[in-house]
Amino acid sequence: MQARQAGVDIDSVVVGAGVVGLAVARALAMSGREVILVEAGEGIGVGISSRNSEVIHAGIYYPGGSLKAQLCVEGRQRLYAYCDERGVSYQRLGKLIVASDETQQVALQGLLEQGRRNGVDDLQWLDADQARALEPALSCVAALWSPSTGIVDSHGLMLALQGDAEAHGASLVLHTPLLAARRIEQGFELQMGGAEPMTLSCRELINCAGLFAPEVAGRIQGLPAQHVPVPRLCKGSYFSFSGRAPFRHLVYPAPESAGLGVHMTLDLGGQARFGPDVEWVDQIDYRVDPARADGFYAAIRRYWPGLPDNSLQPAYSGIRPKISGPGEPAADFRINGPAEHGVPGLVNLFGIESPGLTSCLALAERVVQQLA
Ligand SMILES: Cc1cc2nc3c(=O)[nH]c(=O)nc-3n(C[C@H](O)[C@H](O)[C@H](O)COP(=O)(O)OP(=O)(O)OC[C@H]3O[C@@H](n4cnc5c(N)ncnc54)[C@H](O)[C@@H]3O)c2cc1C
Repeated sequence: MQARQAGVDIDSVVVGAGVVGLAVARALAMSGREVILVEAGEGIGVGISSRNSEVIHAGIYYPGGSLKAQLCVEGRQRLYAYCDERGVSYQRLGKLIVASDETQQVALQGLLEQGRRNGVDDLQWLDADQARALEPALSCVAALWSPSTGIVDSHGLMLALQGDAEAHGASLVLHTPLLAARRIEQGFELQMGGAEPMTLSCRELINCAGLFAPEVAGRIQGLPAQHVPVPRLCKGSYFSFSGRAPFRHLVYPAPESAGLGVHMTLDLGGQARFGPDVEWVDQIDYRVDPARADGFYAAIRRYWPGLPDNSLQPAYSGIRPKISGPGEPAADFRINGPAEHGVPGLVNLFGIESPGLTSCLALAERVVQQLA
């Protein structure tokens, strides 16, 4: 149990009520801290957390030893257990990653080895016949079968995290953007905007502002600028499929440079959707350009030649909060705490793209550790 330090209004302020901020607020509240979670928007999960594939990833793709690899494997196990405990809907559907030619087959072999190094111990190599026995409509030369991949009701998950945080005394304040912060002796003084602007002091400040995390960090007086990365926005559009879903399992192509490739996921109602593609952008605009459908038909027909003409409709899009640009190696999650930047009580989370949803509980645990 942490005792609140004299001279501040509250122990911890978490900025951003997406899945990560909610998980962090929950973990901090459960450790005995008094927590306020401030959110600029009109509700929880209005950012990246409601614009993704809702896939519980196994942990296959990420470089060995990276935070993405560790927190995905750990987070996935914790997430399934949490969903069971709290009655959050999920389905452990399993996923096929498919190779459409010999080159991709080599890449797939690399993924199998990478996944095993990361601790994903249930992957299976399938030849084309074995893959088609699982999914008759599939065209491929080989596939990887990942039985521990699943889908989750991301909004149900966020409501459960909010419920836990509030049950442990945390408060959620909506319509309240953090405008600026400055260091004071005991921690931070925060300037909050919105309809009722206020000043608030806290001992710990945790920046979980997703796409806006670098901007928020830039407004923290006393944080050296070299600890604030340049944000890179990478949009991913989705198209929905009007007919009956062609597959019972999730189907992914071999991954591409900035994303996992245009894959087919199912929602919990069994409806198929395809995406996300990769489009580097300069500003946040969630409209889906119908013209992008051409690229989708071509990408999907590599593994599903039976995709009918005119069957895809623009659905929604999300934007990856990247901190590495086009052509650069993908950056790892950055959980920047006092050991890195030297500011006591401050943790900034940068680059929390996929598998951030899967990893949310493990990410939250790391934040608490950094503040210990
Ligand atoms: C296209 C796409 C597909 C993905 N698919 C998957 C997947 O299948 N599986 C998976 O594990 N992960 C996936 N991810 C990643 C996952 O969605 C994210 O890692 C996760 O949702 C990030 O959550 P967050 O809480 O960090 O950010 P957000 O959900 O964006 O939350 C940040 C919050 O901060 C608020 N905010 C911003 N500025 C301020 C401020 N100044 N003051 C107060 N509040 C502020 C925002 O309003 C927002 O609500 C995907 C991401 C994308 C883009």
